[in-house]
Amino acid sequence: MSAPDLRLKAGRERSLKRRHPWVFSGAVEEIVGNPRSGETVRVCGADGKFLAWAAYSPASQIRARVWSFDEADVPGPKLFDRRVDAALARRRAQVSGETTNAMRLVHGESDGLPGLIADRYDDALVVQFLSAGCEEWRDALIEILRKRTGCARIYERSDTDARELEGQPARSGWILGSAAAPLRMVEHGIEYEVDPAGGQKTGFFLDQRDNRLRVKQLAAGREVLDCFCYTGGFALSALSGGARSVLAIDSSAQALARAGRNLALNDLAPGRVEWLEADVFQALRRLHRDGRGFDLIVLDPPKFAPTAKDAARAARGYKDINLNALRLLRAGGLLATFSCSGGVSPELFQKIVAGAAADAGAPLLLRERLRAAADHPVRIEFPEGEYLKGLLLERN
Ligand code: SAH
Repeated sequence: MSAPDLRLKAGRERSLKRRHPWVFSGAVEEIVGNPRSGETVRVCGADGKFLAWAAYSPASQIRARVWSFDEADVPGPKLFDRRVDAALARRRAQVSGETTNAMRLVHGESDGLPGLIADRYDDALVVQFLSAGCEEWRDALIEILRKRTGCARIYERSDTDARELEGQPARSGWILGSAAAPLRMVEHGIEYEVDPAGGQKTGFFLDQRDNRLRVKQLAAGREVLDCFCYTGGFALSALSGGARSVLAIDSSAQALARAGRNLALNDLAPGRVEWLEADVFQALRRLHRDGRGFDLIVLDPPKFAPTAKDAARAARGYKDINLNALRLLRAGGLLATFSCSGGVSPELFQKIVAGAAADAGAPLLLRERLRAAADHPVRIEFPEGEYLKGLLLERN
């Protein structure tokens, strides 16, 4: 195949040889030809030898995203179809259909399709095209996803910061079918309604599935505090696990309204949950002043640090909420605390929480390390894929 060449500076081949799929602008020596945004380029070393096929993205610091490291795997519908097929097979093998009818079918770089997200909610697919390369191949990718999944409805939610950095305008709306009926899903026996248009991400935080189950298993008889509760995932899981009571806090009135509707969809004791619209940073302090205590606390905040640059500010945020949550945790109580910040490593996160525990005077046992569910695979050569980490801690 003839394609424009993207030639790297001498000595900058290393990360590609280790199969990391990003070419940063600083590594580029020259572009031979005049590729448009999203067009396939042939990435080669200073010696001109082939390294990868990649999608060119002139607006982004990530100047090219790798489609394949094999010269025979030329980017195009055939390769993408194979990648989608492999991604679906991985889910069939690893996520039980008895557990849920909602899962991430394609997880970008980790499934060999940089910038492509496809989440299934029962009969509907919610997709994100977050890279110039995905935009270039949009029609082909939609057709492959439609055929391979058999989904009758497809909603596009291409409106994230990542897409903006690729120089692509936001785009949202139904590609196929419509919202005649609301999107419904079930997870661990709990029903949820999902709003792909107004919700966060594609409507639901699928990555927390296993951790919601863990909370359900641990909740019996406990007084639970669910911070950053969104549409009620952890709160309803705790209730269905037999929690004595749940106080669930979020700053979004829209998310809380949906959480209330989700509760109503299920046969769970409504009197045992209280939804509170508040800023968690302030609410934790107020609860402490009021002398409140809990036996199980979940902290699942939004991304404080998208990149390593913001790590210091993010660290202060994590320290604050963990410290103030620990003041509310009774002896024998459990804290499930999370970070979904790509810029904060698991090691750094654990250090921050340890610091918070020391300042709160709360001795903690590390019971379990938590991570994203298997439909959010992590490639060893792409550590950026491991953005969600959590700790299950016991106060003793
Ligand atoms: N645990 C949820 C997902 C949490 S997403 C689940 O399993 O589905 C993060 C949530 O934090 C969002 O709903 C957002 O509205 C909320 N949020 C962001 N900043 C907040 C703040 N300062 N105080 C309270 N809620 C906040």
